[in-house]
Amino acid sequence: MRYITFSKNIFIPVTNVCRNACAYCVFKARSLEEAYVIDKREFLAIITNKGSATEALFTAGEKPELANFSHFFIDRLSSSGCSSLVEYTKELCKLAIKHGLLPHCNLGVLSRAELKELRPVNASMGLMLETTSELEAHNKSPGKDPKLRLEMIEEAGRLKIPFTTGILVGIGEEKGDIIRALEAIKSVHEKYGHIQEVIVQPFLPKPFTPMENKKPPSSEELKEVVRAAKEILPNEIAIQVPPNLTSPTELIELGASDLGGIAEKTMDYINPESPWPREDKLRRRVAPYELRERLPIYPMYIKKGWYSEEIRPLIERYADEEGLRKGDGF
Ligand code: SF4
Repeated sequence: MRYITFSKNIFIPVTNVCRNACAYCVFKARSLEEAYVIDKREFLAIITNKGSATEALFTAGEKPELANFSHFFIDRLSSSGCSSLVEYTKELCKLAIKHGLLPHCNLGVLSRAELKELRPVNASMGLMLETTSELEAHNKSPGKDPKLRLEMIEEAGRLKIPFTTGILVGIGEEKGDIIRALEAIKSVHEKYGHIQEVIVQPFLPKPFTPMENKKPPSSEELKEVVRAAKEILPNEIAIQVPPNLTSPTELIELGASDLGGIAEKTMDYINPESPWPREDKLRRRVAPYELRERLPIYPMYIKKGWYSEEIRPLIERYADEEGLRKGDGF
């Protein structure tokens, strides 16, 4: 019988200092008072309370070294002897591995050298493509240039990094844009075979942002996107729908097969108003399908051996013969 997957993660916001200013974002620090960089003690306190999570999801503002509060960012890093987001996050990834967590970094646009640096300490990595169009929502966000993002997604393919990407629905794109974005993802996957999942993420308006009055996509619109994703993407790519932002039941019937990372111990810093449903509730919501836990690297890439020696012991500890979570984590 078909099953629906999810993973258990710990959400680590490394820094909210970001060079972009997306019109829907509440994560980015808008003033120096709001800016933070997680320190190692704080980080250790979070990961030592990981419960049954297997994944450390690292998110951060993009290229904080080039942002308005870059001085703050660099100062905070200097006490750890690091000078860049990638260098610092790599240190945190190593600590996460030591504490039994498989890292997945989503740090915005990275160069080939930065991807290479992070690859050995990550089970998979990610970057939302969001759209292939130039939209007003991204007018102040140089890193949201679709060309740059597609280039990085390609680079990850050349480096054989199991990869997560996705589209953001409802930020001003037209119907055709969504099809183009899905086709672009399909085409890069056809070259490198590295896209493990595509997130269909609905935009949700946040107070005090330039897009606070924009309506989110309707459930009919989301259904149409999942239908299109199922048609365009090859079957081996999972379609992920976040259950804290949308009701997954009908989307599963249309082809969604993954619910993404659920954090029991930490909040969704990108969508703080939307708590994740508890696992037992999720199980009821996906019935009659079975809910199964996976790791941040999908079974296909475990079978292909697309992981480093650094994380091999954790994969052997957590993965069953199918490449899903051993004992289902319960
Ligand atoms: S890149 Fe991410 S953190 Fe930065 S402004 Fe855009 S949505 Fe916010």
